[in-house]
Amino acid sequence: MNFKVALAGNPNSGKTTLFNRLTGSRQHVGNWPGVTIEKKEGTFVVEEHEITLVDLPGIYSMSVYSMEEIVARDFIMNDHPDLILNIVDGTNIERNLYLSLQLKELGIPMVIAVNMLDELKLKGIAIDLSRLSQRLDTPVVAISAKSGSGMEELIHQLVHNTKSSVLCYDDQTEDIVRQISDIREECDHDHVHDKFYAMKMLEDDEAIVRDLKLSANQQTRLQQLQQEFCRQRGQTEIDMAVADMRYSVIEQVVRECVSAKTTLTTLSDRIDAVVTHRFFGIPVFFLILFVMFIVTFGPLGEGLKGIVETLINDVLAVGVENLLHQMQVSAWLIDLVDTVIGGVGSVLSFMPQILLLFLFLSVLEDSGYMSRAAFLMDGMLRKIGLNGKAFIPMLMGFGCTVPAVMASRVLEHEKDRRMTILLIPFMSCGAKLPVYALFAGVFFPEHAGIALFCMYVLGIVVAIGCGFLLRHTVFKDAGSTFILELPPYRIPSFQVTMNHMWQKAKGFLIKAGTIIFSMTVLLWLLTTLTFTLQRALDPAQSILGQIGQWIAPLLTPLGFGNWQSAIALISGLIAKESVVSSMAVMVSADSTEALAGVLQTMFTPASAAAFMTFVLLYVPCVAALSVIRSETGSWKFTLKSMGFQIAVAYIGAFLVYHLGLLLF
Ligand code: GDP
Ligand code: MG
Repeated sequence: MNFKVALAGNPNSGKTTLFNRLTGSRQHVGNWPGVTIEKKEGTFVVEEHEITLVDLPGIYSMSVYSMEEIVARDFIMNDHPDLILNIVDGTNIERNLYLSLQLKELGIPMVIAVNMLDELKLKGIAIDLSRLSQRLDTPVVAISAKSGSGMEELIHQLVHNTKSSVLCYDDQTEDIVRQISDIREECDHDHVHDKFYAMKMLEDDEAIVRDLKLSANQQTRLQQLQQEFCRQRGQTEIDMAVADMRYSVIEQVVRECVSAKTTLTTLSDRIDAVVTHRFFGIPVFFLILFVMFIVTFGPLGEGLKGIVETLINDVLAVGVENLLHQMQVSAWLIDLVDTVIGGVGSVLSFMPQILLLFLFLSVLEDSGYMSRAAFLMDGMLRKIGLNGKAFIPMLMGFGCTVPAVMASRVLEHEKDRRMTILLIPFMSCGAKLPVYALFAGVFFPEHAGIALFCMYVLGIVVAIGCGFLLRHTVFKDAGSTFILELPPYRIPSFQVTMNHMWQKAKGFLIKAGTIIFSMTVLLWLLTTLTFTLQRALDPAQSILGQIGQWIAPLLTPLGFGNWQSAIALISGLIAKESVVSSMAVMVSADSTEALAGVLQTMFTPASAAAFMTFVLLYVPCVAALSVIRSETGSWKFTLKSMGFQIAVAYIGAFLVYHLGLLLF
């Protein structure tokens, strides 16, 4: 038998961790809300059952205020899952049960998994599971998605629970719900999820009420019932009244089933007293970033990079060359192979530093610190009129622009979303790193870590500045409240961290082996041939050399008006790393040392800084552009954003160049 299970729960309740554990897949787990935006499917087999598990985005309620809620609600209501697996963060049980109650209204068979069993034990919170199960009329299993305890019991329940039931609220509420149900029966509307619909009508849920196309008379009756309900609960707003009713049920359930030892100030609270401190918070945040860069690009990172370089240049390149000479292949082929190894190798040698950086980011994220950073920044961003919630997608932008743009769906308002999408590319994504690292290493060898740190900070500053500007011009008067709960600190899981790094390494290797590789071959061809398809004696005479020379004058005011820079920047549109490999190809450098040598003749410290700034700020790669297009559904917006970014990059690089001339 095959059946479909919807995994639903609050953000950060451990859905993805459980999903990965049950299906054996490796989806991104992060200790902050908003990581899973799209639904993901996986299957596993128990006894003779094949179970399809769907990991839905985290939601706090079944009302639709944001994109994630729409995705999750549409799935549950329209795809008819056979069972809902509701995962509940046991350490936040009140808030989590708010969703459980609403899911219960659907009348779909359900199993509740109370997660974070390990933390509950640590905190001395005891939950009476059988009592809870009885009160909610639903099987309840305590699990730890992280350590895997409680899994057999959970799987057993998933396979054997086919009972569906809805909960009864108090008599007064039930009476009103019944009358609303009657109104709906009169409409031509299918009758699954009866109670759910009635509750949503009571709440005055826009989408649902609109669908019913009520007559004037029915509308008046519905309004009267809503008013009566408000009166009963002593509230003025209907959604408040419904929330009040649900919370009073939860309060009672929790009082009966949960007992906690008197809470002491936890370690988490004590850490928070420092890192989210009004004055120390932000300096601590920058200090952490700073240490991260020093470790990554200081002696440790450089040392590891040296080892990889030696392997590529002295072992691989030399070996292959000897082999080719022995085989007596023609000179051009040797040149091509040299170029490819040099080009791809120049990118690959940054692998250790990228991994180190992601090790840090992953630990910061998984430990819960990143949520604090978002919280800190919220305060700062709000002061200048930006939405603090935008900070999470922006932080994700440090990894890769593609998922970050997708994560902008956490923003409810389209204006906020578009503005965030416009600013995300200013965050330095992982692919820009090799470019900075190369130039910083050559031109600021003593202070490479600091130079890199400055690039990251510059990106943040430009994003904030542009955000401020846009908010007061193009994107006026949007803005919504930011609710970000702070998850407790957790010891980062070794497995999760290794998984992040492995994913990063794999992605990087695949990119090097495909895009960067083909770009290098293509660039080699175009720098070897002239327009008349003769072999170019001097690369400047080649096809790319010529094209680059037409563009180069535009870049002269920025300090790098040479054809190689022009072409490298264009190739960076395919993938940012290929700025490095293209440089290597165009200056015919077959090792990183050779490349460094040539660069010193082409750039000065000031123009190198300007070049790095341009790479930081200009248009993101094609993969990112295509998600920007699909997320906004607008070519016009995508093209405008490209124009905007080029303009910002040009101005930024110009300023940095001239400032650099004064300073260096
Ligand atoms: P989602 O947002 O619901 O998909 O949640 P995730 O699966 O991304 O997990 C959120 C955070 O909770 C991560 O830091 C996990 O490592 C952590 N986590 C998940 N399950 C457990 C658990 O059973 N115990 C503890 N202590 N942490 C957990
Ligand atoms: Mg998730």
